[in-house]
Amino acid sequence: MIEELEFAQELIDFIYESPTAFHAVDTVKKRLHHCGFIEVREDETWNLKKGGKYFVTKNDSAIAAFILGIGNLEESGFKIIGAHTDSPTFRIKPAPEMISEGNYIRLNTEVYGGPILNTWLDRPLGVAGRITVRSENILYPETKLVNIKRPILIIPNLAIHMNREINKGIELNPQRDTLPLLAHVNERLEAGNYLLNEIAKELKVDVSSIIDFDLYLYEYEKGSIIGLTNEFISSGRLDDLAMVHAGLEALLRVTATQSTNVLIAFDNEEIGSRTKQGGDSPFLSTVLERILISQGKGREEFFRSLAKSFMISADLAHAVHPNMGEKHDPVNRPILNKGPVIKISAKQSYTTDSNSDAVYEEICKKAGVPVQKFVNRSDLAGGSTIGPISSTHLAIRSVDMGTPILAMHSVRELGGVLDHTYVTASFEEFYKL
Ligand SMILES: [Zn+2]
Repeated sequence: MIEELEFAQELIDFIYESPTAFHAVDTVKKRLHHCGFIEVREDETWNLKKGGKYFVTKNDSAIAAFILGIGNLEESGFKIIGAHTDSPTFRIKPAPEMISEGNYIRLNTEVYGGPILNTWLDRPLGVAGRITVRSENILYPETKLVNIKRPILIIPNLAIHMNREINKGIELNPQRDTLPLLAHVNERLEAGNYLLNEIAKELKVDVSSIIDFDLYLYEYEKGSIIGLTNEFISSGRLDDLAMVHAGLEALLRVTATQSTNVLIAFDNEEIGSRTKQGGDSPFLSTVLERILISQGKGREEFFRSLAKSFMISADLAHAVHPNMGEKHDPVNRPILNKGPVIKISAKQSYTTDSNSDAVYEEICKKAGVPVQKFVNRSDLAGGSTIGPISSTHLAIRSVDMGTPILAMHSVRELGGVLDHTYVTASFEEFYKL
C-alpha cells in the first residue's frame, strides 16, 4: 500500500503542476527530457534511430512520445495509448474586466467543456494558460506559459436567504451567475488592465507586448489522498490527466520492443476534438507516417503497419455512485479500487468490440490486474471519448477503457489509490508485448 500511496501522490503532484493543457504538455516534456527522450519538431526532418526515444508537440497543448521499435514497422506495428490533456473549466474572454456596483471587478468568462458548474462556486481559483507576445516575425509571435500561483479569483454563491429553493436544484446561467470576482476597484491599478498587468509582472514582460492570451481558471487547492485508510484520491482534472500520467510512467518503465510504443495526449477532447491538436485531426496519423518515412518506408508499409497496430483509448470511467446506484446498469457495476474499466456501447460511442476487449482483458490478466466493465443504463445516453474519433482517422483495432471515478467533471473528482497503480501496470504490460 505504501508504494501505491506514493504513486497516487505523484499523480496529485503531476496534476498540480498541470493546471491547463499547455502546462500538462510542459510537465510531460520535462519528464521525458529528464528520461532521455529527444524532441523532434514538426518543421524539421526526422532522423530517428531504432530503439530511440522521441517526442513531438502540437500547439503546445498536445504531445506524442514514442520509443521506436527494433523490429520492422510493417511487421510489428504500433502499440498506442491515447489520452487527453484538457479538462472542463472556464476560458477568460478578451477585455475581460467588468465592473459591478462601481466597486467589484469581475472577469468575463466562457464555459469550456462540460463542468458541473455549481462545484466551481465558493472555491479559491487560480488563472493559468498561454500568453502570446509580439516578436520580430509577425507570422510567428512568441508564446509564454503563465501560472499565477495565487488564489486570485472566486465565484461566490447566492445566500440561501435569497433563494430558499436553492437545495432543490439551481440553474446557473454562465453569462450571469458564474463570473469570478477578481478584486476591488483600486485607483493604483491601471483601469481596464488589472489581469494583464499582473500577468506581465509575473512574466517580466512589458504589458504592451502582450497581444492575446489563452487563459483558463483552475481550482487553486491541491488534490489530496482521503478516506479512513487513505483509499481515495480527491483532485480536479483526474479526467484525463490520470491517464496521461499512467501512460507516461508506463512508457518510461519500458525499453524498446519489436513494435513501436506510442503515447499520444490530444487537446480539446472536452469540446469535441475538432481542432488541429485534437483527436479529430491528422496529428496521430502524421506522426506514425513520419516515423515510417524516417526509416525509408512508404505508404504500403504504413498501411501494413496499421494492420498490425493496437490502440488503448484511455479516458476515465464512471464507478457506481454509492448514493445513486440506480443510475447504473443493473449488472455491470464498476467499483473504485477494483481495477481498470473497459467501456462498451452498442452505439460504438466507445470503440471496444469483443476482439479489442479480449486483448485488453488478457493484458490485465498477465499483469495481475483486476478488470471491470462499464455499459450505460439502456435508457441513458452516456458520454464518448477520443477512441471513436481517432478510429475515423486511423482504422486500427482499439479498446476504450479508463480508471473508475466518481463525480466526473466536478471541480474535484474522486478516484481510487489502488486503481492508478493497476492501470499503469496494465499499460506497462501492453508496452512490453
Ligand atoms: Zn475525459
